Amino acid sequence: MAGEVASVALVQACQDARRAYRNWFGSLSGGRKGRRVGHPVFRRRHQRQSIRLTRNGFALHGQRLYVAKVRDIRVEWSRALPSVPSSVTVIKEADGRYYASFVAERAATPLPASGREVGIDLGPASLIVTSDGEVIGNPRFLRARERALARAQRALSRKEKGSANRVRARHRVAVLHRKVRETRLDHAHKIALRLVRDNQAVYAEDLAVSGLMRTRLARSVSDAGWSQLVRCIEEKAAQYGRTFARIGRFEPTSQVCSACGVKDGPKPLGVREWACAACGTVHDRDVNAAKNILAAGRADNKNACGAGVRPRPVAAGAETGTHQSAA
Ligand SMILES: [Zn+2]
Repeated sequence: MAGEVASVALVQACQDARRAYRNWFGSLSGGRKGRRVGHPVFRRRHQRQSIRLTRNGFALHGQRLYVAKVRDIRVEWSRALPSVPSSVTVIKEADGRYYASFVAERAATPLPASGREVGIDLGPASLIVTSDGEVIGNPRFLRARERALARAQRALSRKEKGSANRVRARHRVAVLHRKVRETRLDHAHKIALRLVRDNQAVYAEDLAVSGLMRTRLARSVSDAGWSQLVRCIEEKAAQYGRTFARIGRFEPTSQVCSACGVKDGPKPLGVREWACAACGTVHDRDVNAAKNILAAGRADNKNACGAGVRPRPVAAGAETGTHQSAA
């Protein structure tokens, strides 16, 4: 084995394993916040495989990517690299396609200031609800693709193990998986860009802190979509010089009236609309929550500035470009 694989890739794999165990132990002992982390699992042959290479493990030879112990690989670039990359991850997806994903620094390109700010919350049936009252869902064709994927997965489960039919069905599932993934990511980028362009600050609820992750998201397929969207917003905010903050809230935002601040008590999830008992304002449950997130974000931001401390800077725009190779 040794000598066949670049040593940096082995080192990176060991580091990944160590981190996975640390997260698992941390989760067991309660020292780690957020969702519970399970025991690390072995890599599977038929699923996504990847190696990560740092400076010593790869080089760019013109348009080609040299990978240690492999060779120069022809790459179909999806876009130009903004700077010299510090690492590359070579990925083989379950559908057999290879990708190279680079980590490279990108200089920020601030947009002209905007006077608007927005709070966003995870919608029950949609992707997000904004404090402006806008409901943004997933596009119809994404839902159609998700249904096709579910159908293909059911078909796969009926195929006999070790059969040629099963191999074909598995490939079909992998292809549909990729299509769903790409469609969802594309959609997330578009929404994130619009929110960041139109608003000086974007505030989102930190679901990991709120502890509602499981109960609220269990009935929703959008949890993957939500965290991906929030990551996209964070990236773009850093890129365009906007503020992005996660609100780790302690008050349940759906119980507080965004007009007068009175806590009105818990409401069953079926209650979509309610009138505040104190001020009489009629609220849409989700828009009210988004408004409370906006208010909490503004308060945090003001406190941070008042104390002479700037809001937590977002990590400098480390861009991960995905560049597909035809290898
Ligand atoms: Zn009220």
